[in-house]
Amino acid sequence: MSTPLVEIDGDEMTRIIWKEIKDILILPYVDLKSEYYDLSLPERDRTSDAVTVEAARAAKRLGVAVKCATITPNRQRVEEYGLHEMWKSPNATIRAELDGTVFRTPVTVKNIKPAVSGWKKPITVARHAFGDIYKASELRTAGGGRAELVFTADSGEKTSLEIAKLEGPGVLQGQFNKESSIRSFAHSCFRYALSAGEDLWFSTKDTISKQYDQTFKLIFEEIFENCYRADFEKAGLKYFYTLIDDAVARVIRSEGGFIWALKNYDGDVMSDMISTAFGSLAMMTSVLVSPDGKFEYEAAHGTVTKHYYRRLKGEKTSTNPIATVFAWTGALRKRGELDGTCELCAFADRLEKACIDTVESGVMTGDLTPLAEGPAEKVDTETFLAAVASKL
Ligand code: NAP
Ligand code: MG
Repeated sequence: MSTPLVEIDGDEMTRIIWKEIKDILILPYVDLKSEYYDLSLPERDRTSDAVTVEAARAAKRLGVAVKCATITPNRQRVEEYGLHEMWKSPNATIRAELDGTVFRTPVTVKNIKPAVSGWKKPITVARHAFGDIYKASELRTAGGGRAELVFTADSGEKTSLEIAKLEGPGVLQGQFNKESSIRSFAHSCFRYALSAGEDLWFSTKDTISKQYDQTFKLIFEEIFENCYRADFEKAGLKYFYTLIDDAVARVIRSEGGFIWALKNYDGDVMSDMISTAFGSLAMMTSVLVSPDGKFEYEAAHGTVTKHYYRRLKGEKTSTNPIATVFAWTGALRKRGELDGTCELCAFADRLEKACIDTVESGVMTGDLTPLAEGPAEKVDTETFLAAVASKL
């Protein structure tokens, strides 16, 4: 390694696995250079969450980060950890700093067939990770009245639209997005498609949402025409827009092997559908890509709390480390690509192959055994990691 990567540690079961992966699969083979940030909940609380902001800035500065799953505190966690505040989701802080888009891709193995028999290659979901219902204002009314959408421009000029006349109690929601964020989303998607060598699909409900969703569609079209059409043609790739209903039908009938870009809520829901249909959440990798080409790799799953509590009682668990290993290999490979250190890229390829070969040889964690065809021996996490190390 020549340039360090940003290493962001986390919580619970994934924190335990993090250390094991490093000790067993990384440090014996890689002269690891990393800037380490501890985002465990106690440390975030101790630093009033400053450590999260520092980690996000480091990711921006160094360009490649690998992150362990972290707890997003809720009321119960505030009590459990005696927190001073219900700190924000670290992922939201990092996403905001990098202005990035999240790409999720399943790790596929031959002995686990996707629920959709026609899928031959992984499908990557690109989720716009800003705005819409995630930053909406909502109101439940006690009685009837008139609901309006009002915009006051910086100049002071007001525009208002009637939403509805309610003759009794109802619910209201105001959501927004920013053109700058939609543009960043589009650039991240087109760049990622070029770097992955896959077609890009994008879908919204523009037939119904003639301003909101239509804006997304038009911005994507404009950016494609102005910035990426030539590169896509040279690479033999396609950009394809279709209505979300049509996209759902086409995705199911497809062979896979493309990137499906979706608005925030659609991406949230569809990525769970895609990951489940490919097998296990524990096999889903995730990378946050900023429009200016910074990368943060992680597993799509959380801190696997239930397994952690069993571990605290002294039990062995069969927690699948594959998505976390692939977060490391993704980051090491990207660092290698950017620095021109091809041994690092080759190591990442070999470590991924060792994981896949281990599962294909019939040795796997408990989340996979019910899904596998042919021999499937359930082993605990440490036995699985040792099996991967011996393949490696
Ligand atoms: P989770 O950690 O993803 O786990 C949910 C369930 O999925 C587990 O109980 C387990 O099922 C299965 N599972 C997930 N990953 C697995 C793995 N690697 N190996 C085997 N099974 C796996 O979600 P959660 O329990 O809802 O959330 C736990 C914590 O994670 C929360 O505090 C949440 O805030 C946080 N979280 C963080 C991130 C992130 O940092 N990116 C993302 C999501 C959630 P069984 O119990 O049936 O075995
Ligand atoms: Mg979700």
